[in-house]
Amino acid sequence: MGIESSKYMDGEGGPVAYIAQRTQVGRAKAITGNKAGTTKLEVKLPPKATPVAVEDYEFIKSSLVNLLLFSRLDRGTAQKIVSHMYMLPVAAGDILIQQGDTGDAATKLFVVRSGKFEVLERRKDVMFKVNTKERADVFGEISLMYDCPRSATVAATTEASVFVLERDVFRHFVQASVEDEKGQIQLFLNSVPLLSSLRADEKMKLVDAFVEDSFDAGARVIVEGDVGDKFYIIKEGEAQVVQGEKEVNRLFRSDFFGEQALLQDEPRRATVRALSPLVCLSLDRRTFVAVLGPLQDIMAKEKSPEVVNQRMAKLKPQGSAAHRRPTAEVLIKYDSGRRTITCDGHLDEVVELRRGGQKMTDEHRDADKQLVMVEGELLGEGAFSRVCRVAEESTGRVFALKRMAKSAALQCPEHVFCEQHITRNIAHPFCLRQYASFKDKCHLYMLFDLMPGGDLMDVLVAEAKVIKYPVADKNSLRKGCLAPKMKMWQGMEEPMSRFYVASIVLALEYLHDNGIAFRDLKPENVLIDGQGYAKLGDFGFAKQVEAGGRTYTFCGTPGYVAPENVMGRGYNHSVDWWTLGVLMYVLLTARQPFTSPKTQDPMEVMRRIVDDRWPIKYPPYMSDEARDLISKLLERKPVKRIGMLQGRARDIKEHPWFVDFDWEGLAARRMDPPRKPKDADSSKRKAELAEAHRAEPREPTNVTPQQMAEWDRVFRDF
Ligand code: ADP
Ligand code: MG
Repeated sequence: MGIESSKYMDGEGGPVAYIAQRTQVGRAKAITGNKAGTTKLEVKLPPKATPVAVEDYEFIKSSLVNLLLFSRLDRGTAQKIVSHMYMLPVAAGDILIQQGDTGDAATKLFVVRSGKFEVLERRKDVMFKVNTKERADVFGEISLMYDCPRSATVAATTEASVFVLERDVFRHFVQASVEDEKGQIQLFLNSVPLLSSLRADEKMKLVDAFVEDSFDAGARVIVEGDVGDKFYIIKEGEAQVVQGEKEVNRLFRSDFFGEQALLQDEPRRATVRALSPLVCLSLDRRTFVAVLGPLQDIMAKEKSPEVVNQRMAKLKPQGSAAHRRPTAEVLIKYDSGRRTITCDGHLDEVVELRRGGQKMTDEHRDADKQLVMVEGELLGEGAFSRVCRVAEESTGRVFALKRMAKSAALQCPEHVFCEQHITRNIAHPFCLRQYASFKDKCHLYMLFDLMPGGDLMDVLVAEAKVIKYPVADKNSLRKGCLAPKMKMWQGMEEPMSRFYVASIVLALEYLHDNGIAFRDLKPENVLIDGQGYAKLGDFGFAKQVEAGGRTYTFCGTPGYVAPENVMGRGYNHSVDWWTLGVLMYVLLTARQPFTSPKTQDPMEVMRRIVDDRWPIKYPPYMSDEARDLISKLLERKPVKRIGMLQGRARDIKEHPWFVDFDWEGLAARRMDPPRKPKDADSSKRKAELAEAHRAEPREPTNVTPQQMAEWDRVFRDF
């Protein structure tokens, strides 16, 4: 413990830097990568650009090979990507990228082909030269992932030229290669009789568990008589099966061997030797059992109907008119003015809202077609929206109203439709409830339960404190003196964070059982109700992911995103268990595991997230159980992550950190929340927020009729 804790204090500039980090747990805004799917690919060459010449392919590949995003690409994919790049001449003195540029200007990576460039950063209106770039240098990697403003200006100081890679091109080919590879493995799996009792979604899970093993020509992959625990599928090359001295078979691509090892310890019945360089996909029994449970059990079990799919069907949009929400009118009153917006809220619910939950008669039903909402204080904001308190005028019942500008929602309309649809259909005590959704000319609205306790970040800021902790370093131990006490920040006490983490586990378990990945878990998106219970809010990135399916959009919040999300090779709800690990770390320590005051560069944070060798540092006051659970959630390989194993969420519930925890009591809301919400928790933040937006115009200015028409078209069905 002593050495570990002193290492911890030494890391990243010692205790002073660490203390300064309290502000580092500042509110973070979500980001997302792409507008639409990347299935169709169109590359439009800008004027003056020319396709890359074939003789330049090797040069470009060798310039890119050290980048994080290229580190796991196979040769074929890298080749396809490079062949879809283009060459762009840049005249001396021209600015290639401008600091602050966003949108289309910030979706490209550049490799310098010739000439020299200067990298300039504007600080307080003065331009500083921070770097130079020349042949083979690369810049703009982060723009292959998501929209973020260019952090510097790059200008040519000589005649120059660059090779350009567009984000869509990159993501298209990475996605295609993954689909292809996974599809191949799945095909292979379908041909193994021993695995025929697996359901399709179980096979999909296995696909992710395979690893590649390579063998030189002549090497023995398995040896007759040895007890083995691995099963192999040939991906490339040729092998020979030998019993005794005799060759009994030849094996080629998609042939498999050693599958009995998945069942039990049994001596291999033959030797398999590589006849050429051999690439196999392999799976060992331990991994198999961790992912799916013992194969014997699966074979014995009768094929059950796909429960998950059934549940999902329940959440799918219901086509029949009975389930569609009829249109009603909503008036929102703000300041002293008044304006009308049209609401497509479910009429029954609108009436019910109006009547404060009283029983309705048919009379009421006809009379109450209008709902009047009076807008109150600003409750919070995210990257895409503002949330206000509103009161229904006739009953005084209060709600939270989330408002999104259509102009912002246009960045990825799919996200808002998912949010609307998912929050309308889920029902769980720890998930925020949506009552109605509606729109006006420029905005989309959703009406939610009001959560008067603010969000979990408010709670953390209120609870975080400086403690003095004895840190035994080598010197004090040697001298036999008392360990010096170091000042350090601590987040919440463990029992309190246990309560919140447990509530989120239940909410995520419910969502995952219903095929929904949440994708943006962080304290700002966990809300606190009047009694002090936590609920998941902000389903802005939530998405229905079919059992066994995967999704590719890069989205989440820097510092929280999971490695599989960063790499763009497809992921599913596994990302939620990772982000739970980050959230738990943040709650306990008041800092983030992968960021620090010295790492402002998001690309560096991403690199740490993906890099197996980058160690997560745990503060000395954290219990061993908490540390263990966090490290199992922050497992970089999704198939090995707790929550993704055969026991699913149950494995987390049964982890020693939760020993004696009353899960049933929590689920039934019979537990006393550890902390009653206080007004002071969020009052300062809200006051600052109100101040920041005081003079802001409500309606966007300079909207063209064409834009308006586009908004109408895209959001017609909201
Ligand atoms: P975004 O999708 O833009 O991130 P959120 O739904 O996360 O928007 O809302 C932004 C902030 O508003 C939250 O972090 C929280 O502080 C506050 N907030 C959201 N919903 C509610 C609610 N129902 N009750 C109280 N505060 C809320
Ligand atoms: Mg949010």
